[in-house]
Amino acid sequence: MRVREKNDAACTWTPLEDQVPVEVFKAEVQAWARRIGVEPREVHIRPMKRKWASCSSKGRLTFSTELLQQPAAFRREVIVHELVHLKVPNHGPLFRSLVRAYLAAP
Ligand SMILES: [Zn+2]
Repeated sequence: MRVREKNDAACTWTPLEDQVPVEVFKAEVQAWARRIGVEPREVHIRPMKRKWASCSSKGRLTFSTELLQQPAAFRREVIVHELVHLKVPNHGPLFRSLVRAYLAAP
């Protein structure tokens, strides 16, 4: 998923307690993976310059460390987007309707 708006302003310091811990984030990914019915082979979190996340055709997901500072609703959007790619490798109508359905459910 490409960066839509990334705040590169000079002072974007985030207090540590506003960040979700890596383990919590990975648990979110696993919970969504079960719900969607996919099994990511590997989940990595590392700094990424131009994207929030990516997925390889072999089922390896990579998320940007900056995502740990984003609001829960946005993290969910990115997580669901990448996980649905394990089912549908493009952004066609099926992909979009699956993402919409998962994000609409409570
Ligand atoms: Zn995508």
